[in-house]
Amino acid sequence: PKPKLPKPEWLKIKLQTDGHYAELKDMMRSKTLHTVCEEARCPNIYECWANRTATFMILGDICTRACRFCAVKTGLPTELDLQEPERVAEAAEQMGLRHCVVTSVARDDLKDGGASIFAATIKAIRARLPLCSVEVLIPDFLGNEESLRIVMDAKPDILNHNIETVERLSDRVRAKAKYKRSIELLRRAKEMAPSIPTKSSIMLGVGEEYEEIIASMDDLRAVDVNILTLGQYLQPSPNHLAVARYVHPDEFKQLKEDGLARGFSHVESGPMVRSSYHAHEQVKSAAGA
Ligand code: SF4
Ligand code: SF4
Repeated sequence: PKPKLPKPEWLKIKLQTDGHYAELKDMMRSKTLHTVCEEARCPNIYECWANRTATFMILGDICTRACRFCAVKTGLPTELDLQEPERVAEAAEQMGLRHCVVTSVARDDLKDGGASIFAATIKAIRARLPLCSVEVLIPDFLGNEESLRIVMDAKPDILNHNIETVERLSDRVRAKAKYKRSIELLRRAKEMAPSIPTKSSIMLGVGEEYEEIIASMDDLRAVDVNILTLGQYLQPSPNHLAVARYVHPDEFKQLKEDGLARGFSHVESGPMVRSSYHAHEQVKSAAGA
């Protein structure tokens, strides 16, 4: 095996904890909820939680797929928890969230892929926190159009679906997902609800070339995706896909310029950027677009 690339300076961060953070962590445990912020050990957690942004993972913590970059457990998921939307909304209220991201594992075992639970979660958050913007980061529902419609009908503030990587590497990096199916999902979402901003994300450093990133931007803009996030891929464990390279912060800056020049209303691009990083600001800029 190839030796592991040393981590560059710009990815070394100092963690800080304070009382408020510990309190929120305890609250999550007591409600048996999963946040991506904690489980993916996201480096932005202190900043995001302080900014009243968090990402909840619904539909359990076991995924029916096994993407090579992802730390989520693979297996047969447990039964459906119909109380989960209400518990997420309660937690969002206790955290005083201004922007709430709701995502899930891929539940290919469910007929609607979990779409109705997404819709119920959006409604439950709205009922408790009318001013909180709600972003859903959805799986591809195996291309099921009806599932997408169920989610769009619940009117999220942002519809997010990640293509994760460039077309050439898609089959190798993502399990079961298809590049073109993801682009098609984003196209349909815009067609179903033209006023709801759409968003996607690409993780860099898995072997893509610069021109391929630009080509993906063009594919996303061709279906009128509004918001783009670009971040560095980090290997969750030695068993996961290796990092091909660490992208320099200057290249992230250049890519942001390239994205804005192509007409995205908001591009968040940097080594530590995650799909939901600074998401509350994206709602504002997309609304003004
Ligand atoms: Fe959570 Fe997303 Fe913020 Fe990370 S970037 S702490 S996952 S909301
Ligand atoms: Fe992880 Fe999503 Fe892939 Fe499941 S479908 S393994 S949660 S990236």
